Amino acid sequence: MKLILLGAPGAGKGTQAEIICEKLSIPTISTGNIIREAMKNGTEMGLKAKAAVESGALVSDDVVIGIIRERLQESDCANGFILDGFPRTIPQAEALDALGVEIDCVLDIDVKDEAIAARLGGRRVCPACGASYHIEYKKPVTDGICDACGEALIQRKDDAPETVLDRLNVYHEQTEPLKDYYRGTGKLKSVPGQDRVEDTTKLVFEALGI
Ligand code: ADP
Ligand code: ZN
Repeated sequence: MKLILLGAPGAGKGTQAEIICEKLSIPTISTGNIIREAMKNGTEMGLKAKAAVESGALVSDDVVIGIIRERLQESDCANGFILDGFPRTIPQAEALDALGVEIDCVLDIDVKDEAIAARLGGRRVCPACGASYHIEYKKPVTDGICDACGEALIQRKDDAPETVLDRLNVYHEQTEPLKDYYRGTGKLKSVPGQDRVEDTTKLVFEALGI
């Protein structure tokens, strides 16, 4: 299964990707996580990306296409993968096509803008392993602590309310046109994002026939 997850920031792509990844034993490739890791490690790419990420803008197509090209060559991608956060622009989708990647399904998780603001405000992430939580919808077992690795959770800088509005605008302008792009290929499926993670998962599994 080669799957693309589409949807606004905070729609639940990462959360659902984690669940599908476990069920199908295929890796999730999150450009957001790869970029944040590079920023944390202070690599050249990370330093270049920092200003864009923190202001809610997109990192340049060249950089993310390079990341994806390299990552898809790794052996764990041979039986399929889930792309979370890529493509995010039409040129990125065209680059994926040019790499000869045959996508099976593009799953759009649809959440209204008003709900997005509340979701991102309550999001907490683990700076060590990248796991994502929500103070109401996806609580860790112990408040403020990552279930997976025990680190103290933090709020992402780009989840600040003023940056969230910019990210939503970027989504509508640059990423949402991908729905039409993929609708044209007959591969687009859409599910309405639900408040409870497991309710969305049920719809996602139905849509994917898994
Ligand atoms: P979210 O889905 O919550 O918006 P991500 O973790 O997917 O967050 O992405 C965080 C930031 O990383 C984006 O706002 C953007 O700056 C950068 N980024 C991630 N993926 C891409 C991409 N495919 N193209 C350009 N920038 C990206
Ligand atoms: Zn962790």
